[in-house]
Amino acid sequence: MNGLTLQDVVLTYPDGDRRLTTLDRVSLHAAPGTLTAVVGPSGSGKSSLLAVAATLLRPDSGRVLVAGRDTAGLSPRQATELRRDRIGIVFQQPNLLASLTALEQLQAMAHLRGVSAKAGLPRAERLLASVGLTDGRQHRRPHQLSGGERQRVNIARALFAEPAVLLVDEPTSALDHDRGARIVDLLAAVTRDHDTATVMVTHDRGFAARADRTLELTDGRLS
Ligand code: ADP
Ligand code: MG
Repeated sequence: MNGLTLQDVVLTYPDGDRRLTTLDRVSLHAAPGTLTAVVGPSGSGKSSLLAVAATLLRPDSGRVLVAGRDTAGLSPRQATELRRDRIGIVFQQPNLLASLTALEQLQAMAHLRGVSAKAGLPRAERLLASVGLTDGRQHRRPHQLSGGERQRVNIARALFAEPAVLLVDEPTSALDHDRGARIVDLLAAVTRDHDTATVMVTHDRGFAARADRTLELTDGRLS
């Protein structure tokens, strides 16, 4: 199956002499071209769910399939390649490089893939325009952009490799309601345009209605 599939995923963290179950037999399938919202309060396991889906954390048990590929047997290097080529990640903390313009942030992704920054320029410009960064704002550094614009750069950068799976952690947490709503609408649009299987986690139920479907995460259980 294409997109993203989690089957009976269990994740525990060490907790003194015991282990804390953070994901409790979580199953989910996100199809290409759909935006799935996962809503849950702080501490319910949302970021952990994304870390497992991104192959950054290995579950105790259960399976994670990315674009039809079972990730269980991958070496660390293969997992890194899978992340680089198939998975776009928008972390909660904006991790843009302070010294680079928006365009250069995306061109750096080309460089990471062995393509020159110059060769990556047209795609970087196209992607930034598609998230609304035009009129010279593509030449600004992060501190010269608003929080919403920084999040748009983050999203454009995550799309650079044309990933099959897009994982987004609390994209609206630093934004007021209107800007947050526009970011979620943008995620819905890029999901359709790029045919990504997109999973967005949020504690804000108000934004979830803009997704194709909403799942609830409560104490590590998905429903
Ligand atoms: P959310 O993103 O929904 O706030 P998290 O996935 O960050 O939830 O955390 C879920 C639970 O796992 C919390 O109880 C948190 O304290 C715990 N947790 C998260 N990361 C770790 C870690 N590296 N080690 C131990 N416990 C952790
Ligand atoms: Mg979190």
